[in-house]
Amino acid sequence: MASRSEAAASDNPMMPGGLRAGSQPALRFAPSPTGELHLGHALSALTTWEWASRLDGRFLLRIEDIDTGRARDHLIEQISEDLAWLGLQWETPVLRQSEHFTDYRAAARKLEDMGLLYACFATRSDIRAEVERLNTQGIAVPRDPDGAPVYPGLHKELPAGEIAARIDKGEPHALRLDMAAAIERAREITGQARISYVAFDDDGRERRVVADPARWGDAVIVRKDVPASYHLAVVVDDHRQGITHVTRGKDLEAATDLHRLLQVLFGFEAPRYHHHRLLLDKGGAKLAKRSGSESLRSLREKGLTPEDIRRMITAV
Ligand code: GLU
Repeated sequence: MASRSEAAASDNPMMPGGLRAGSQPALRFAPSPTGELHLGHALSALTTWEWASRLDGRFLLRIEDIDTGRARDHLIEQISEDLAWLGLQWETPVLRQSEHFTDYRAAARKLEDMGLLYACFATRSDIRAEVERLNTQGIAVPRDPDGAPVYPGLHKELPAGEIAARIDKGEPHALRLDMAAAIERAREITGQARISYVAFDDDGRERRVVADPARWGDAVIVRKDVPASYHLAVVVDDHRQGITHVTRGKDLEAATDLHRLLQVLFGFEAPRYHHHRLLLDKGGAKLAKRSGSESLRSLREKGLTPEDIRRMITAV
């Protein structure tokens, strides 16, 4: 780990000396209250905490609960208990994304006004059927970084009249980003062929990363069920909260490409990004709340201490 003086001496703009006068770095831990926190979350929260202290920055907690069908209030309380138990402190009030749907809607409207979103009525099974149809014709549909087939463009060319009529009838629809048009627009805005962002490694060394948002295809920006998406909400809130450094797991590294594109379109400054290692289970899979990895609460109830958790994280 580079000491602060070494880093400052290396003319590293990520360090406080390189920030705009009067601005303090701001970092956030942004869990979704859809399951209990496990060791992977502890690693993420502690990494963010450590970077906040190395940078003399603020530490914010953000509750990413746009998935109102799966988010649970008691889990929000439990997240606070777990983090406090680990020894972390955060600023209040804590931003809860479910209280800000109007802001996400307004942001989406900006993209709509730029002509970059289109309505998509397709269900999952419509998309699956279209992908199969293309496959049987020998057309391979690429997968996005999360492993889902890239949207095959089913409703991209619907006549405006039909779209309006279906919306009027109340047919549920998502809003998708016209990726090719968005990339073109980003080129016009930046005057550069490719967009990029600054990433920093465990030692604070920085490098510029060229983003490849095209691999996400026409991503959903506004979901059918809620007027936001993870990608939209995270970009709006990192900007709103003045986040200067985003520390999160490598599983979200590819998402940064899309986030950077949205930031360019909105005219937002880019935070710097650190994508930390992931904890794997015995089978080599990423720890996930859904696969039942042991929760921090259950480890705590078994009598483990925060120091034990830190040790376990380092050992994995
Ligand atoms: N809410 C996301 C999660 O729990 C993290 C989002 C982020 O750090 O950008 O996986």
